[in-house]
Amino acid sequence: MPPFSAAPPGGPSPFVADLHIHSKYSRACSRDLTLPNLGWWARRKGIGVLGTGDFTHPAWYDHLRQTLHPAEPGLYRLSPEAERDIARRLPPRLASEAEADPVRFMLSVEISTIYKRDDRTRKVHHLVYLPDLDAVERFNAALGRIGNIASDGRPILGLDSRDLLEITLESSPDGYLVPAHIWTPWFSALGSKSGFDAIADCYADLAEHVFAVETGLSSDPEMNWRVGSLDRYQLVSNSDAHSPPALAREATIFATGRDYFAIREALRTGDGLAGTIEFFPEEGKYHADGHRLCGVNWSPERTRAAGGRCPECGKPLTVGVLSRVEELADRPEGHRPAHARGSPTWCHWPRSSARSTRWVPGRKRSRGSSTTWSRRSAPNWRS
Ligand SMILES: [Zn+2]
Ligand SMILES: [Zn+2]
Repeated sequence: MPPFSAAPPGGPSPFVADLHIHSKYSRACSRDLTLPNLGWWARRKGIGVLGTGDFTHPAWYDHLRQTLHPAEPGLYRLSPEAERDIARRLPPRLASEAEADPVRFMLSVEISTIYKRDDRTRKVHHLVYLPDLDAVERFNAALGRIGNIASDGRPILGLDSRDLLEITLESSPDGYLVPAHIWTPWFSALGSKSGFDAIADCYADLAEHVFAVETGLSSDPEMNWRVGSLDRYQLVSNSDAHSPPALAREATIFATGRDYFAIREALRTGDGLAGTIEFFPEEGKYHADGHRLCGVNWSPERTRAAGGRCPECGKPLTVGVLSRVEELADRPEGHRPAHARGSPTWCHWPRSSARSTRWVPGRKRSRGSSTTWSRRSAPNWRS
């Protein structure tokens, strides 16, 4: 766990939040993704607030209604018996802390929208947060009229991103939307294949209601700081876990009150947002350019030199996150905008970094165990 003692004295104690995960009802996700299992793994990983994921899925929604109890405003927890059971099954050094401070859940979902705008097909993933189950019911009813929300915990809907944001705000004035993993080529707001050149273009006349973006596993804050149009957004990271052990491989650290409204306010203003825990971006599967099936994984320069074509199949290479950032960047590598000075990022060294043999563009191979956390590029906590 990160050395939280570095937080400013006297303020609220920092906590780790992982607000993008999936349930067992999402495609290609582990059957172990139930609330009691998530509660155990969250405490095992030091998570204070965990997104529920998948609240549009009818069976998961019922599970949430039956299993969760109101806690702090806008947050939920398991029953006292379930919390005691989790503490009992944890290693002894974690048990008393887990019992005194069980994980809180925040209602969350990821929605995939596929639609045409300006004659181009757009595919964008979004994270939606709501403060209570009644708002979720309104949201689900509205989406249920548009498409099928029962077949996948992360539903795919033929709906403009702007309209999804409108439904979010109509379901609750305190609801909010965070564009998910904004750089992935195929499914994101800035993606090279089916996204936009600016977040604001994606959400059109409602763009001012978007205040935070998820950087995704294939990019880190430093890469995002090169793009001036992102200055107005807070940067968050989450695990996008498809199985419980992947929880918190990326996460966001808050130093604010632990309730839905304080978290939302921290994301809106940046006050109370203490930093992120980052995967090494080159470990993300969309970092470089390439064709996975052809075994090609190239740096932006090499792709340019080859005219953007795959040497194996001759088709255009998928432009990865690194290239896409370079395309939209209006600042040199290493630039740190004024608002980001002093904002720390934490590094979570993934297990795979020690055994991966993949070529890594422009970055030294980093080594470490999956349980090592270290602080980097972090002169001071933001005051
Ligand atoms: Zn996604
Ligand atoms: Zn996801």
